[in-house]
Amino acid sequence: MAEIPARSSQPGSGNRPGVNGSAGAGLRADAGLAHLITELQGHGLRVEVPLESRQGGAGPADAGMLWIDGFAATVPTSAEYVRNSPYVLRAEDEGWGVYREGERLASAEPFQRPRFYDLSTADGIPYWQIALLHLDSLASTVIQTCAYWGNADQCAFCGIGVTLANGRTIAKKTPQMLAEVAVAAKELDGAVDATLTTGTTATPDKGALYVARCGQAVHEATGLPVEVQFEPPADLAVIDRVRDMGVQSVGIHVETFDPQVLARIAPAKARTGIDGYFRAWERAVAAFGEGQVSTYVILGMGEDPELTVAGCRRAIDMGVYPFVVPLRPTVGSLMEDLMAPSPEYCETIYRRVVPYLTARGLGAHGVAAGCARCQACSAMSLLEGSSDADGRTYLPLLSNR
Ligand code: SF4
Repeated sequence: MAEIPARSSQPGSGNRPGVNGSAGAGLRADAGLAHLITELQGHGLRVEVPLESRQGGAGPADAGMLWIDGFAATVPTSAEYVRNSPYVLRAEDEGWGVYREGERLASAEPFQRPRFYDLSTADGIPYWQIALLHLDSLASTVIQTCAYWGNADQCAFCGIGVTLANGRTIAKKTPQMLAEVAVAAKELDGAVDATLTTGTTATPDKGALYVARCGQAVHEATGLPVEVQFEPPADLAVIDRVRDMGVQSVGIHVETFDPQVLARIAPAKARTGIDGYFRAWERAVAAFGEGQVSTYVILGMGEDPELTVAGCRRAIDMGVYPFVVPLRPTVGSLMEDLMAPSPEYCETIYRRVVPYLTARGLGAHGVAAGCARCQACSAMSLLEGSSDADGRTYLPLLSNR
């Protein structure tokens, strides 16, 4: 058993000044804030203060974590291009602020080091090597190896092997370990859900059943809603078995709707094919319900914007939440030398996807757990309240410069 250190403040008060979408009372969830966060996710944020960050891990990573005007956000802080960002995080007499050319744009609250990071298991594994807190979501890559890593199938944006190589995690987390850590993360740091992903295994289920077992253990130990993420299994009946283990949401990530880009950046996923993802989503929506199935859609990999918007809308029609995010070129990934896409481009895509989601009755508020619930890696949810009755979304006018 881990030892829980004595603390003076209330258990569960945690790392959570505000929550995207759900705790919006009094918070400025408007198009202006969406614009600022999109800018920060495109240009990055220079930091003059210590900031907890995520580097490496499955999928697109490299993220400093903070709250901006009370809203969760992850923004690039360590990539080379961030040095040229006009935005800076600066300490103030009380708290922190985001500045551009000396002008204060928003308040900020850096993510605090979680208390459960001080704990370790009975056999000496630090809890932070088992799972991390991403703002208010407990996150773990339960199998930190991938059948595609280090060979021709490696996804170009991914950094799953980086974290393992530098000793920041262990290769495989057990359901028992994750349940133990989740209890502490909930009680000490106020985690509100768990997001569990996995490297793809060389088995027909692609690792889905193991990550679901982990999710089941976390949910049973804590009562927290859980999202598990996996590749489309060869037999789609596996998705029903995942549902039967009691997790609430699933992420099945196509990454891009442009087949040429998919073939270039994720050859193994391209073999599944975009229609293969649609088949898996259809089964998953039948199992988990509309809005509880999501996919990452990464912008900035050379994709055709028309195919991107059309793919998102087709997914939405089916009840899938397309979580549109800018590329985070991760140090150690095959894309580490790229730039993040321009904020203007990302806003243009958000503007065409979010109203369609809203008109379909989907939104971050309806997602039980996971990345599409958290929303810190995208400004999408901040626009959900900016649509009028016709589904039009108002955004600031953009410069072409
Ligand atoms: S399937 Fe691709 S994104 Fe997922 S862990 Fe493997 S290499 Fe990374």
